Amino acid sequence: MLREVLKKEECAACRFCCVFRRQSLWEVPKLPAYFVEKYKTDPQGREIRYLRLADGILPQADGAFAPDGVITDLRDLYQTDDPEEEAPCPFLNPKSGCVLPAEDKPFECSAWPLRYMRMKDGSLKVCLTPTCPTVNKADLELLKQKTRESWHAQMAAYAETHPYIIMEYKEDFIVLE
Ligand code: SF4
Repeated sequence: MLREVLKKEECAACRFCCVFRRQSLWEVPKLPAYFVEKYKTDPQGREIRYLRLADGILPQADGAFAPDGVITDLRDLYQTDDPEEEAPCPFLNPKSGCVLPAEDKPFECSAWPLRYMRMKDGSLKVCLTPTCPTVNKADLELLKQKTRESWHAQMAAYAETHPYIIMEYKEDFIVLE
C-alpha cells in the first residue's frame, strides 16, 4: 500500500514493526477469522497461540485499540523481565522477513505505519505512527497527498468489513486526514 514512499528493501532491512516489546503488544496486527484457522503453526511447526482482544487480558496502551479482533499471543515468548526485550511475530524469518504470502499478510502490516484512528470528535482519520524510522523521514505533504488520493479510501473500505482495525487516537500520532 505504501510502495511509493516505503521501499521493500528498507522494510526488509529494518523489521522494526515485526517485533514487539511487552508495552507494544497492542500494536500486534489484528487478524481476520480465516487466518486463525489457516495458520495453526509457525514455519518451524510450533503451535501459534491466538488471543481475543475481547478477553481484555492484553496489556493495553491507554485503551488505544478496538477490543474486537484476534492477534497472535506473544506473551510466552519473552525470556527475561527486561521491558526492552522484543518478541518476534511468529511469521518473521530473521533472515528473509515476513514469510506470509501477500494475500494473507494482515492488512495492518500492509498499511503500517499508517493507522486508521477515531478522533475525539468521532471522525476517522489516517494517522502516521510516530516511531517508523523510515516513513517519518518522508515529506509530510507527500504523505498527506497520498492519503487524500487513496490511503484514506483504502483504509475506510477495509474498516467497513473489519472495524477492529480502528484505533482510538493516541497522542503523538501524526494526523494525515
Ligand atoms: S505478519 Fe509479517 S509483516 Fe506482519 S508483523 Fe508478522 S512478520 Fe511482520
